[in-house]
Amino acid sequence: MASGRQLEILFDDAPRWDPPSLEAALADAAGKPLRLVLTDNRSVLLSFRREAGVVKLRLHRMFLYAPDTVVSALGRKLRRRGRAADGEVRRFMNANLHRVRRTPRTMPPLVTSGRTHDLTAVYASLNQLFFAGALRVPITWGRGVGRARRGGLTFGSYDPVLALIRIHPVLDRADVPLYFLESVVYHEMLHHHMGGVPDRAGRTVYHTRGFREAEARFPRHQDALAWEKANLPKLLRASQALDRARKAARISAKRPQGPRV
Ligand SMILES: [Zn+2]
Repeated sequence: MASGRQLEILFDDAPRWDPPSLEAALADAAGKPLRLVLTDNRSVLLSFRREAGVVKLRLHRMFLYAPDTVVSALGRKLRRRGRAADGEVRRFMNANLHRVRRTPRTMPPLVTSGRTHDLTAVYASLNQLFFAGALRVPITWGRGVGRARRGGLTFGSYDPVLALIRIHPVLDRADVPLYFLESVVYHEMLHHHMGGVPDRAGRTVYHTRGFREAEARFPRHQDALAWEKANLPKLLRASQALDRARKAARISAKRPQGPRV
C-alpha cells in the first residue's frame, strides 16, 4: 500500500544492515573476498586496500544505512579497481554527513517529561498493554536534530547500538493527540522487541510482515495514520520553528556572559 510505504520512510530511521550482512552484500557485489571494518572516523569515511587477494574495506558506520544501489555501486568500484567513491557513493556520503559524530556515542541524559506529554507514562501504559510490562528500553524526547527530511519528518527512532528510543520534540504539543504519540512510541518499542530479520539477500529487514501485524494491533492504528496524513504540513512547520528556536538559543549561548550571581 502506497501510504504504508510512505510511512515507513517517515516514521523512523532504522539502519538497513547489520555489520555481517553488509559485509556479505559488499563481498557479493564486489565478486571477491572482502573484510569490512566499520569506523567512526570523521575524516576518512571510506578507504580500502588489497592484501593477499582480500579487499580490506574500512567504512564509516553511516554505510549501515546505505540502500542497495549504493552497495552495488561500491561493489562495482571495488571490482574495477576504480576510485571507490564517485557518483552514487559520493552522493550517499554527502547526504549522510549528519551521521558523522563528533563524539563517541554515549547514552544522552533522558528527558521524558515534556510540556504536554509525559513519555514515561505513555511508555508505561503501552508496556503494560502490549508487553505484559516486560520491556526494558530507555526513552527520551530527542532534540529533533538531523531528522527532518524533504517532505517528511522522522517522528521516532530506535537506536540499536544504545538501545534507546528517541521521540521527535515536535510531538510534544497540545494539538498532537495522545493516540498519535502512542502509535509512534509503540512502533519504536516494537523495533526493540522484534529486532531485525535477514532477508534472502542478507539484508536486515525491520518492517517485516510480522512487524506490520504487531503494529496494527494498536487499537487506533488507522486513526494515527489518518491523523498524520492530515497534519503533516502543520508538524513540518512546527519542526522548522523548533529548529530556528534552537539555532537562536545556540547563538545567544555563545555570546559572552556577564558574571553570574
Ligand atoms: Zn520502523
